[in-house]
Amino acid sequence: MIAPIEQTLAGLRARTALWRRAYETIGVVPTMGALHQGHLSLARAARARCDRVIVTIFVNPKQFNNPDDLENYPRTEEDDARKLESIGVDLIYVPGPDQIYPDGFATTVTVAGLTDMLCGATRPGHFDGVATVVPKLFLQTSADFAFFGEKDYQQLQVVRRLAADLDIPIEVIGCPTIREEDGLAMSSRNLLLSDRSRIKAPVLAEVMEEMRDALLSGATMGALTPDAKARILHAGFSDIDYLELRGGEDLQLLNQTKPGARIFAAAWLAGVRLIDNIAV
Ligand code: AMP
Repeated sequence: MIAPIEQTLAGLRARTALWRRAYETIGVVPTMGALHQGHLSLARAARARCDRVIVTIFVNPKQFNNPDDLENYPRTEEDDARKLESIGVDLIYVPGPDQIYPDGFATTVTVAGLTDMLCGATRPGHFDGVATVVPKLFLQTSADFAFFGEKDYQQLQVVRRLAADLDIPIEVIGCPTIREEDGLAMSSRNLLLSDRSRIKAPVLAEVMEEMRDALLSGATMGALTPDAKARILHAGFSDIDYLELRGGEDLQLLNQTKPGARIFAAAWLAGVRLIDNIAV
């Protein structure tokens, strides 16, 4: 059965009030739609853990630093609802912008430190947008558990930080990155790649895996990075925003690997910005 869709906060709260009264646990999976197996894996994790599962679909204008990117972002709501059918989620919450940012909305949440680097450095305002909408979705749904993908690892750390800092009573659960067969991390943005670009896209993950193996054999980022970047550009990417090794908790820049370290990359392929990260 297709899950009911709620478009208003009042409708959402009417449902969650009944669940809370029955002492049922609620899990929320925040998404921007154009759902793929990565999103569905989060919904499955929520289904396994919680009595009630809410998937939210909101293309958050505040987290887009580029108006064209917002305009071109894929919107496939009916398909999305169909994809969630087999998982048995309880509710799909698709708020209009006025349900999230009503007239007079004036609050911005900023998480300092963690947002200075990586995507924070190349997408000004992006993490303020994320850090402002996520607590709203947490409070609107009154969820006990929230499920986020490691695919957006910096975002996951930012969300963990803000939930702890704001005493939001929710447990943030990170879920592994789901990949296509050729290694490309699944992403709604992959839909924007032409067939020709799609063939080139897995090079990013391939290069990162080779870097991981070399780091584990004692190589340094200083030695590996020039060649790795050259390979990515040679494969057809036009620009690399970053290709870095960082600590998994504090995201501090590293030259050599240590426990918990991850390789982070963001690169442009035919006008589409792809990001990925892997544990070393
Ligand atoms: P988005 O719709 O891109 O905002 O993503 C919504 C959630 O799905 C975020 O928590 C993402 O990290 C997660 N997600 C996106 N792609 C993947 C993937 N390939 N594997 C696992 N989770 C993902």
